[in-house]
Amino acid sequence: MRVQFLGAGTIVPTLKRSYSSILVETSHEKFLVDIGPATLYKLYRSGTNIEEIDQMLLSHFHVDHVADYLPLIHTKAFNPETGEMQPKGTLTIYGPRGLSQFTRDLLENVSPWKSVADSLGCSGYLSLHEVTEGVFKNGSGWVGAATPVQHAGGVAYRIESEGRSLTYSGDTVPDENLIRLAKQTDLLIHECSFPNEDLLVGLHTSASKLGEIAAKTDCGRLAITHLYPVCEEKIDEMIETIQRDYDGEVVVAEDYMVIDV
Ligand SMILES: [Zn+2]
Ligand SMILES: [Zn+2]
Repeated sequence: MRVQFLGAGTIVPTLKRSYSSILVETSHEKFLVDIGPATLYKLYRSGTNIEEIDQMLLSHFHVDHVADYLPLIHTKAFNPETGEMQPKGTLTIYGPRGLSQFTRDLLENVSPWKSVADSLGCSGYLSLHEVTEGVFKNGSGWVGAATPVQHAGGVAYRIESEGRSLTYSGDTVPDENLIRLAKQTDLLIHECSFPNEDLLVGLHTSASKLGEIAAKTDCGRLAITHLYPVCEEKIDEMIETIQRDYDGEVVVAEDYMVIDV
């Protein structure tokens, strides 16, 4: 498996880290995990054609993780030769409880966009799956499992393919469900929004708590993502803090970084 961070930041982007999105590639297919603003542009910039993406996993519905969802639906359905919405195939979306309502709201309740939605014929084009706890997919080269985390009704994901695994926390406070899901995963991708507990705001995790979390999961490697701008001057300090409790490799994600799992 191969992972590329398209966005390793938060709602406040920096030059190195912008809104959240990860491209996962198995030997069979490519899919997105979260789709923050400008993900489609970053996808093209990274050399991936949107035609190759027909599946996506959403961790939660905050705008820094989902803003390019509607553009994805529209762009994949648009036929530039006819100028019409003519979706080919199916776009499959996995997300937490509320995915169907959220999608309906986007497609039907914003009046200037509604005419586009009307012509999409979405009943056959979009395949929506709300996930909660446990395995939600097993086939076409990968197994997906989810667990609820404490952040806006969100979920964390574990993806396994050809004997390798990665686990993505989404946004969360330190969470026992996440620790269970991530046991002995090869790559733990965990949000690390703030350098320490004094600077922490909202339902997030700081570097001060992340070393213990990573150690408890016994993960092969830790990649930290979702860094607020306050982290930029404190990266070395954050790594040191984490390594007090966790003796594995710590990678600090930035946009376009690739990790082979
Ligand atoms: Zn976020
Ligand atoms: Zn969030």
